[in-house]
Amino acid sequence: MIDEIETQPWHKTTAQVLRELGTDPQKGLTAAQVQQRVAEFGPNKLNEGKAISPLALFAEQFTDFIVLTLIAAAIVSGFLGEWLDATAIVGIVILNAILGFVQEYRAERALAALKQLAAPTAQIMRDGELQSIPSVDLVPGDLILLRSGDLVPADARLIDAYILKVEEAALTGESSSVEKSPIESLDAETTIADRVNMAHAGTVVVQGRGRAVVTSTGMKTELGRIAGLVEQIQEEETPLQKRLDQVGRFIVYLTIVIVAIIFVFGILRGDNPVEMFLVAVSLAVAAVPEGLAAVVTIALALGMRRMVRRHALIRRLPAVETLGAATIICSDKTGTLTENELTVREVVLPDRVLTVTGEGFSTVGEFRLNDQPIRPEEDAHLQLALSIGALCNTSELQALDDTHFRVIGDPTEGALLIAAKKAGLDAEQIHDYNFVTELPFDATRKRMTTIYERTVETFEGGIEPVAFVKGAPDTVIPLCTQIRNNGKTVALAPAMRAELLKTNARLAAQARRLLAVAYRRLDSTDDLTVGSVERDLVFVGLIGMIDPPRAEAKAAVAQALRAGIHVAMITGDHLETALAVARDLNISTSDANGALTGAQLERLTQKELEARVLDTHVYARVSPEDKLRIVRALKARDQIVAMTGDGVNDAPALKEAQIGIAMGINGTDVAKEASDMVLLDDNFASIVGAVQEGRAIFDNIRKFIHFVLSHNIGEVLAMFVATMVGLPLPLLPIQILWINLVTDSLPARALGVEQAEPG
Ligand code: ADP
Ligand code: MG
Repeated sequence: MIDEIETQPWHKTTAQVLRELGTDPQKGLTAAQVQQRVAEFGPNKLNEGKAISPLALFAEQFTDFIVLTLIAAAIVSGFLGEWLDATAIVGIVILNAILGFVQEYRAERALAALKQLAAPTAQIMRDGELQSIPSVDLVPGDLILLRSGDLVPADARLIDAYILKVEEAALTGESSSVEKSPIESLDAETTIADRVNMAHAGTVVVQGRGRAVVTSTGMKTELGRIAGLVEQIQEEETPLQKRLDQVGRFIVYLTIVIVAIIFVFGILRGDNPVEMFLVAVSLAVAAVPEGLAAVVTIALALGMRRMVRRHALIRRLPAVETLGAATIICSDKTGTLTENELTVREVVLPDRVLTVTGEGFSTVGEFRLNDQPIRPEEDAHLQLALSIGALCNTSELQALDDTHFRVIGDPTEGALLIAAKKAGLDAEQIHDYNFVTELPFDATRKRMTTIYERTVETFEGGIEPVAFVKGAPDTVIPLCTQIRNNGKTVALAPAMRAELLKTNARLAAQARRLLAVAYRRLDSTDDLTVGSVERDLVFVGLIGMIDPPRAEAKAAVAQALRAGIHVAMITGDHLETALAVARDLNISTSDANGALTGAQLERLTQKELEARVLDTHVYARVSPEDKLRIVRALKARDQIVAMTGDGVNDAPALKEAQIGIAMGINGTDVAKEASDMVLLDDNFASIVGAVQEGRAIFDNIRKFIHFVLSHNIGEVLAMFVATMVGLPLPLLPIQILWINLVTDSLPARALGVEQAEPG
């Protein structure tokens, strides 16, 4: 029955698709359905080239030119009856292969494990619960949530969409985005590019959000069908590996010349040609630093594993090297330098300021006026402000116990839900509203709106639809023309407006993250665009929350500065908020020198920005687009930039920076795809840790190269000089091979994986 759905789901209605797939439109699939479908449809992934088997990897150890020469030498010795030499050479070849195999296998496994960690996840509803699962575990019928920045994990039929825009270049080659909507049914013949009621695997959500039901997975998706055409990801060589390859090749040529000279001189002197042949081969084997490239790979791979233990996941090998050389870290504030466990501290109403007690995502706490607890249930205006916060919201709370919660979604919104709970705002009140649609938050507009239909007369009377708006006060207050005060709606006088902006600045200077809440009655729900809804608003209140700096961030900033690395903070928050946090962390000095706002940035030409960029430590109220300009300016000043980001619009800056760092927890798939490194715990301190490891790896590789080259040169010189001045050969072939085995392999490789040295 499920097979039917795989044909043309865009041609059917959503209800029909859901019925055929047996999916509950609210709760998703049940555990039993999932179990059965996993067996039937298999994992949701494209067929990949086969992984190298351990046997093949072992066999590969014998394909090296040098090793082949050695095997040839063993055969020659065997024919000449030199059994001791022949056996010894074979023994050495095998030992060498085993050592090489063990190292490479470990490195290979470490890399595979890292890839697993980097695998994308999907947000789904199963058994009525919101979950995040690895995308490979999706089955047809799964209810998925799509948000701006997500990679669509499978082909799916849309159920609802709010300004959902998808970029489908991977499938259609068209790089501008397409707006999607859950239209009832499209013509059966509709081509992929026009299937606006479908979201396809491998495409990217660039705006808005929506819900969809998976119709096909893995090789059955449109992407799977053309998977043969999709280029395979190439393993990249790092700059260091490339340079070492060149050095290695040079050494090989040099060795061949020297060995040829030694061989010819030996023959001319009348030495046994067979003996001389073995000497020549052994010397070549000893002199060629065969492990060079391999050891670098191993050092990088094992280094990456150490970095993961410190919560930094490297996606591109070259980043390991570049990390050690970083000269500036540009970090987001919220969540990276701060805890991201926000707590509402103040609710500013037109005629009074309420304070709120309590910590984090816990409902323990109370509302106070002039330090006296109040009964929040009886304060209608407070209830209105908090219900706007709760209704203009896309996040959810998951109860850990009676009073503690986990936030699924944006922590800023989570804090609002907690505050609403603290005030005893009941779900019933919220059920007087029917959700219509949403104008999602974006980091450039810095606000969001939800639109509801009222089922009964609510706060202002009337049952016409209403828009609830929340966002950065300096972007919302200018849109307000009226204010709600004492149960009445009156014009917003200029003096009041100025007063509100002053309160906003005062609280921001205390490191508060601030939101304004407002609403507007709508005549109809016909025209629900940003321009027509977000105007003539009625101001309701300001909500101030704290977001304490992470405990370990201060030490990490100090460590970075000691290591000669600049730190800059980039945030969408208010300038005063940013400065207060920066002061706390010792990122900047006490005044606003060394800080730029998005508005100031806009007035600077790129040249002017370049002149200031090295002295600027705080960027506030910037949009993601500004980050790109900042990276470019820094690069123009010869900096090696590590830049963090999480949203879709951060991707260009992450690509442009030498080290693009995506947030592992709050980051979108798009940001992760664009990055060189993923910060698994979103923590600034982990960036500094990764830089430290990067430097250690670089240092180890250098030690290793010095070690290998110096003892190889020693051997070759001893043999060369002895031949030249007519002394007997100082080393027998087997001795050369033995020295090579015991020095080149274990001790050298040990150097490659040594711990970081202090300092
Ligand atoms: P950052 O992540 O650097 O702190 P954001 O771009 O997330 O900056 O936020 C900038 C401003 O937008 C915040 O100061 C806040 O006023 C507002 N804001 C943040 N999140 C939301 C949201 N979910 N809804 C409405 N407004 C928000
Ligand atoms: Mg943010």
